[in-house]
Amino acid sequence: MDTNRRIFIQSTVAAGAAASLPLVGQEKARDPKADYSGPNLIIIRFGGGARRLESIDKKHTHAPFLAHELSRRGVLFNSMEIDHFDSGRAANGKPVDTSHGQGTIYIMTGSYKKLSTVGSGALDERFVPSTPTLFEYFRSKYKVDEHQALIINSEDRKQEEFLTYSNHVRFGIDDKCQILSLYRFKRYLFSKLLDEGRREGREITAKERRQIQQQYDRLAAIDRRGKLTENPRLMEFWARWRHHYGDSGLKNPRGDRLLTELALRSMRELQPRMMMVNYTDCDYVHWGIRSHYFNALGIMDQGIRQIVAAAEADEFYRDNTLFVVVPDCGRDNDLLADIPFQHHFNTRSAHRIFALFFGKGVPAGDVFDRGCDQIQIAGTVGRLMGFDTDEAESRVLEEAIE
Ligand SMILES: [Zn+2]
Repeated sequence: MDTNRRIFIQSTVAAGAAASLPLVGQEKARDPKADYSGPNLIIIRFGGGARRLESIDKKHTHAPFLAHELSRRGVLFNSMEIDHFDSGRAANGKPVDTSHGQGTIYIMTGSYKKLSTVGSGALDERFVPSTPTLFEYFRSKYKVDEHQALIINSEDRKQEEFLTYSNHVRFGIDDKCQILSLYRFKRYLFSKLLDEGRREGREITAKERRQIQQQYDRLAAIDRRGKLTENPRLMEFWARWRHHYGDSGLKNPRGDRLLTELALRSMRELQPRMMMVNYTDCDYVHWGIRSHYFNALGIMDQGIRQIVAAAEADEFYRDNTLFVVVPDCGRDNDLLADIPFQHHFNTRSAHRIFALFFGKGVPAGDVFDRGCDQIQIAGTVGRLMGFDTDEAESRVLEEAIE
């Protein structure tokens, strides 16, 4: 057990919040699960830190499909903020963080509660939600298989491979979601190469075998929570992916285009009922090249257009899917800053985001200017899909509900 987890458990017990320790996979007495017949959910994390100005401002947008077309189909909350309620302020008076893993968890859990971490060393910010995620609420109530509850993750953000379940005492690994990412594909590929003993048509040498084993062990060690078990439906998914794109990693799309491809394929092959696509390319602007930011907005916009079109063409999703588009955080708008477009310094603009709800159960054509909060999304989704989100912010976005 790592130190952070020990501290978490100690503090939980000390607070009297749990009669027993939150052991992973512990048996829970539960009502039998119900069949699910409500809407599917696709959350697009318009991520990597996208400002309102270049996203939903019709005059300045670099995401024209989002700003001009999609916004008309649903309800746009154009003054949403991170920590608008000030409810997230920690005991030391600091505002909540405006960053990617954090914002993702605020969206998924509807809470700004302090985040736990796993592991240490090379990968910092390996956050674990301390409150239940939408996936856990959903799967604990309804009969929905793991392979139909999916997060699509970027190859560069291994720290977001831990968002599959929370440390909450009433939920956890039994209700987790699955992740599709290149990291997961590589884990599949290396284990296959070891099984097959061949690579690119020839036998692998003893030295190559050791190297592949090391690479596999490194990937497998990233999530140390629980025993590593692979989902058979995902293994079939990766087998088809490998058949199509090969072993090199050079033929498949990269960056956020990869996420779009994974989302589209999973809709065809796995039919997720709840899916979160964690776009992130905007964040390459940290390197200082502004065009990375503007181009990434366009790539996300194209991705959304393709995913929405795929949903409209597929009977499983058509007229029965709820969509939410929301950034993980904003970015600075101080053009005189030494390094512009940052989001770690708690400037107003980094807190300023938006959310667009559209699809099943959402009225069309409304725009709301009043302030609202990123943590209201989870409860609103729960209301529209028919499950309780009792640890989340209870003030839902009533305007998003028909
Ligand atoms: Zn960043």
